[in-house]
Amino acid sequence: MRQLRLRDIGGIIIVDFIDMEKEEQKQQLITHLRELSKFDPTKTNIVDITSLGLVEITRKKSRQNLDSIIYSECPICRGRGRVESPETVSIRIAADIRRMEHKSHAEDGYEIEVHETVAEELRHNQLLMNLAAEFAMDIKVTAVPGMHPENYAILQQN
Ligand SMILES: [Zn+2]
Repeated sequence: MRQLRLRDIGGIIIVDFIDMEKEEQKQQLITHLRELSKFDPTKTNIVDITSLGLVEITRKKSRQNLDSIIYSECPICRGRGRVESPETVSIRIAADIRRMEHKSHAEDGYEIEVHETVAEELRHNQLLMNLAAEFAMDIKVTAVPGMHPENYAILQQN
């Protein structure tokens, strides 16, 4: 019972106890476990003991509840645990600019507002340089502090 608490083990737990000959011993064990379970702050239920001496226990996992009290979902990745890489965002931006250029040419080029990691990426890879050369225009990259790393704004200058 102490180990269940220490490790915060939850769900359906089956404990294989040493064989007991008498029914009375099994009942003593169950009674003892039920006594101990009262000291567990997490709801623990000693369900039964099978003829083979397997004790079935159900226990709520408390850590999940505690976590949800202490933490809230990450506003950046919304619980995914990851965000799109600067490379991926850069490719999306380049595709958007290409699409925009096919609709109407921006005489004075574009200004792109991005997260600083995306700005760094855009300044180092060839995507925008190639686009600028292809459509004969300037593309200015501006890092916006606090911007979501997956978001960007493409401003057409004309
Ligand atoms: Zn996150």
